[in-house]
Amino acid sequence: MSAIDGLAQDSSSFSLRRFSLVPMAIVFVVLVCLSILVVQLGMIWRARNVELDQAGQASSNLAHAVAQHAYDTIKEADTLLVGLVERIEIDGVSEIELNRIHTLLVTRVTELPQLHGIFVYDKNGNWLVNSQKVLLKNLNNSDREYFEHHRTHSDRGPYIGPPVRSKSTGEWIITVSRRINLPDGNFGGVALATINMRYFRSFYDLFSIGDRGAIFIANERGILLLRRPFDASKLGRDISKLPLFHDYLPKSDSGTAVIKSGQDGVVRINSYRRIEEYPLVVSAALSQDEILENWFTDACIQVSAGGVLVLLIGFLGYRMVMQIDLRSKIAGKLEEKSNELEISHDILAHLVMQDGLTGLANRRYFDEALIEEFNRAQRGESTLGLLMIDVDFFKQYNDIYGHVAGDECLKKIAHTLTMAMRRAGDVAARYGGEEFVVLLPGTDLAGVIAVAESIRLAVEALGIPHSGNPLDVVTVSIGVEAFSPIHLQNEAVELVESADKALYKAKESGRNKVCHLEQSETVFILVN
Ligand code: GH3
Ligand code: MG
Ligand code: MG
Repeated sequence: MSAIDGLAQDSSSFSLRRFSLVPMAIVFVVLVCLSILVVQLGMIWRARNVELDQAGQASSNLAHAVAQHAYDTIKEADTLLVGLVERIEIDGVSEIELNRIHTLLVTRVTELPQLHGIFVYDKNGNWLVNSQKVLLKNLNNSDREYFEHHRTHSDRGPYIGPPVRSKSTGEWIITVSRRINLPDGNFGGVALATINMRYFRSFYDLFSIGDRGAIFIANERGILLLRRPFDASKLGRDISKLPLFHDYLPKSDSGTAVIKSGQDGVVRINSYRRIEEYPLVVSAALSQDEILENWFTDACIQVSAGGVLVLLIGFLGYRMVMQIDLRSKIAGKLEEKSNELEISHDILAHLVMQDGLTGLANRRYFDEALIEEFNRAQRGESTLGLLMIDVDFFKQYNDIYGHVAGDECLKKIAHTLTMAMRRAGDVAARYGGEEFVVLLPGTDLAGVIAVAESIRLAVEALGIPHSGNPLDVVTVSIGVEAFSPIHLQNEAVELVESADKALYKAKESGRNKVCHLEQSETVFILVN
């Protein structure tokens, strides 16, 4: 393969790249950038969900702890009430009995830290006995909501009223009460345990719920008993219309829900739960924004880093695409030039092998073709034929008609030779001066003689006037040879020499002849 051929092939592979690499590189860079972004966003989103899941878990645990605490706290007080109610209902409220109960209550209050006090009221709301060391008399609690509840409701279960300020100490308290029946079943009074709100608050303060987290406890009717952060003005508020009570609790006794507060607009993860046995609901809520604060900071860092990475890859990708584009353009130009060069090379090669006057192949081409065909005939053990053609009396022709006419005559004869070629491998060439050769691969002697004869006749038939020729037209003499060359025995030059000698004989025997030499130089065959 020549250097120019190589160059041309390289160029074509460059051109392939020009058409496929640039868009492919763009798609590749875009895909890489998109993949990085998608993977990163996916990871960030996943991290957010993990944070929220963990927060849901934490708030659920918190709600559990708060519910358990509320249950334990109230259960202890209520157990006391159950015993107290039973005792009063059985033993009555004689002076002696009340004194014994007073002693008991004073002791129990000191034992249970959550207890603010224990009180017993008669059916009119008058103070009968309580846990205070010095019994206050002439006070009446018939105006309290729990009292009115028990007076009008015969059920014996515990009642948890709205938060109130203690009449005795002024502290905020939560009330747990039970109805006392008279022996006939009528309303006989109320036994009340008051629980220090401080007790709940100090417990709730143990938890870290952020600045916007919240914990609350409410009774089943949706009356807020206590809330962290503490705000006295909100105690006793009806929150039954809020989504937690309105939408979620009717469906499930416990659960977790993301709810946007209608009051402060904060989105919180609320875990709620009803307290077993008691008509209470607790909720622990964590602010979603606070939970996601750290995640958000991390996400910003990741997005920034990812953005920088994507920009860098994008920039490098852009440069790469530009480089590829540039290379492709250069390769395209190179290919163009290479094609031009190749064409020039072909033309040159053709010119080098062509005879300028007749357009036939020249002597150089013939010499190469002869060697090639000779070797092929040797390998393939086939016959190779050769015609040596010489124009008769051509010197006279020039002398008579001039050199220009001589040239025209040679062209016509050349054309006749071209027309006589039958096979693709046949070669007609100008051997020199007014001599021509015809190489006929794969043609035996009979075939060669036939072709020679057809040429001779065709030239004669051209009828080119030639007063110097006894036939008055231009004729040619042809010496022929054909044989199957034997390896290491024959050489190409033998074919030429033999045809040349035959030509000489053709001249000698009167011209316008086709002649073939037999083995001995003295014997020759005249075809016509
Ligand atoms: P013979 O029949 O024996 O071949 O006679 P001849 O005159 O053809 O032989 P000779 O070889 O002596 O003459 C060849 C002539 O061919 C001599 C030369 O002037 C002429 N000739 C050779 N090349 C060209 C050419 O390119 N153009 C022209 N016009 N004449 C040429
Ligand atoms: Mg000659
Ligand atoms: Mg001649």
